[in-house]
Amino acid sequence: MNRANSPPSRSPTERHLFPEPLQISLKSTRKHVMSTLTKLAEEMCNTGWQLAERGFLAGSEGNISARISATEILCTPSGVSKADMQSTDLCVVGLDGVQQSGRRKMSSEVLLHLAIYLANPATQAVVHCHAPHATAFAISGQAPPAGLLAEIEYFLQEIPLLEYRLPGTNQLAELITPHAITCRAALMKYHGAVTWDSSLQQARWNMEMLDAYCRALLLARSLGPWTPMTSAQIHELRTAGTRNRTDG
Ligand SMILES: [Zn+2]
Repeated sequence: MNRANSPPSRSPTERHLFPEPLQISLKSTRKHVMSTLTKLAEEMCNTGWQLAERGFLAGSEGNISARISATEILCTPSGVSKADMQSTDLCVVGLDGVQQSGRRKMSSEVLLHLAIYLANPATQAVVHCHAPHATAFAISGQAPPAGLLAEIEYFLQEIPLLEYRLPGTNQLAELITPHAITCRAALMKYHGAVTWDSSLQQARWNMEMLDAYCRALLLARSLGPWTPMTSAQIHELRTAGTRNRTDG
């Protein structure tokens, strides 16, 4: 055997600390984690573009986040338009609120996102923006009424209206905590809307459904008074929706 081409010999301790198969599996695990993170970052940018395309974001408004692990999320930075955000603009933030990486500063509204992740461990993504029809209800201080659209009862169920608190503060974030498990969407008075769910796509769809519902309500108002479905019908839809979520 040509010793010049053979791998350097290791002491028994080194062999114990760095067994070859483990090195290989660590490398492939890291590669897998990096590619998952890259895909998630691309999906976040695409979500920002789609929200902007629908007129849900103006200027640098709004913020998006997605869970990376049990203790970290990927979130959008402050001061960047989500319409043309790059994956290198994103920040990694711990559930303790400490930014771990990213060349830009994390969104000032990340506390709202963290409160949802902490209260509901099944949450994989959170979207906050100022979708105009949903924000019209938030401005007028009215929660969208229940029992008027079957899909809303099935997918979103109750849509609470949070009282006004200064955006970016713990005082606002703590208002969402009691709703994080039972709801998937909320309005914030004088501010906008927030949705969350078990995937980034579903969180975005929830925002689209919320805004479409608020738009339909504004149109329906011009047609005269409405009569909501019965509480038994609401219960039936919400029970089916909850079962669908649980069945996954
Ligand atoms: Zn906001």
